[in-house]
Amino acid sequence: MSEKTNKPHLTIIILVDALGWDVAQEFGFCRDLLPRSGPLDTVLGYSSAAIPSLLSGTSPSMHGAWAMYRYAPSESPYKLLRYLPELPHPMEWRLRALTRRFMAWRKTVKGYHDLYEIPLKLLGHFDVAQRGDPYTPGGMSKETFIDHFATAGIRFVSWTYRTPETDNFEALSEAVDSDSQVLFLYTAELDALMHRLGTHHTDVGEKLRYYESRVRGALEAASRVGREVTVFVFSDHGMTNVKKIIDLKAKVDDWGVAKRRDTVAFYDSTMGRFWCDPLVRAELTERLNATGWGRVLSDSELEELGCRFEDHSYGDLIFLADPGNLIVPSFMGKEPLAAMHGYHPNDSHSRGCFFTNHASCPLPESILDIKDAMVEHVMENS
Ligand SMILES: [Zn+2]
Repeated sequence: MSEKTNKPHLTIIILVDALGWDVAQEFGFCRDLLPRSGPLDTVLGYSSAAIPSLLSGTSPSMHGAWAMYRYAPSESPYKLLRYLPELPHPMEWRLRALTRRFMAWRKTVKGYHDLYEIPLKLLGHFDVAQRGDPYTPGGMSKETFIDHFATAGIRFVSWTYRTPETDNFEALSEAVDSDSQVLFLYTAELDALMHRLGTHHTDVGEKLRYYESRVRGALEAASRVGREVTVFVFSDHGMTNVKKIIDLKAKVDDWGVAKRRDTVAFYDSTMGRFWCDPLVRAELTERLNATGWGRVLSDSELEELGCRFEDHSYGDLIFLADPGNLIVPSFMGKEPLAAMHGYHPNDSHSRGCFFTNHASCPLPESILDIKDAMVEHVMENS
């Protein structure tokens, strides 16, 4: 308890999607305001993998969510779509909008997801990997720090991508003068901005100054009401500027390999994932490695990265593009982007970041350390 007020210690947690350590450094983000900081290692994959890993402290192979879509012919909520005939583009577009609306109405998937540009016929064999909402208690198969707070009776308020960023920051500032113990805000606007403009754009610097001003505002609001506050700002992964567009799908189609023996191919922005028999797998591995665009990840490397799945639901073969190479068109988008993430976690641009005003707490080194760090800090101060 603070001596100046009867309000409990306040912890503010801000999760900025895709804020890389290098980008934060480039723009001098929160250098004076949150002076203790460091880079955070991430996991291989997109936010669909990194957010559940960060919230739960477990790797994708433990919590089960890696890419947004996994091969699950028997559980796919889109099963009926596999019987579709080849449709002309406008009809497929209309049916996609209808499917989106139907799924939203059924509420089968509670977390963030989109159909993107996945061919509808193929979608009939796939399922969204994370059906629950990881930001709500009980939303994941593994315990998150949000679950922990809920079980411990911590007074916790959160704001996510479901409501506008400015409204969320406004509400957070106001909630400083409440009896909440933890305020949690997740934003994906910087991620969207950098995908569009790249990491060096002046708008990125402006956005970071805006976040910094909101952190300053919250600290000032706390000081006005005499409340002790610890602020943590961190991210799930970084962002890499795109240098080269690679049309992996056209290349694989050209080889004719993917058409053989029921091979299934799924094109993410930085990964090609294939389900195929051992013969096709061997041939594809050789050809993919010879492209010079990236490489096929071995089972032992996937194991080391915490991304090896016994049931091969994310692919029998995983091709990962080299940093800066973007697969276009992919099932995630038809147009090139200025920047992307989902490259090898060892690449320096992949690293996330961690900032705090806490004078002595240990600095986490990986997004996998965040859950324990948050739980320890909040429970010690409750
Ligand atoms: Zn993104």
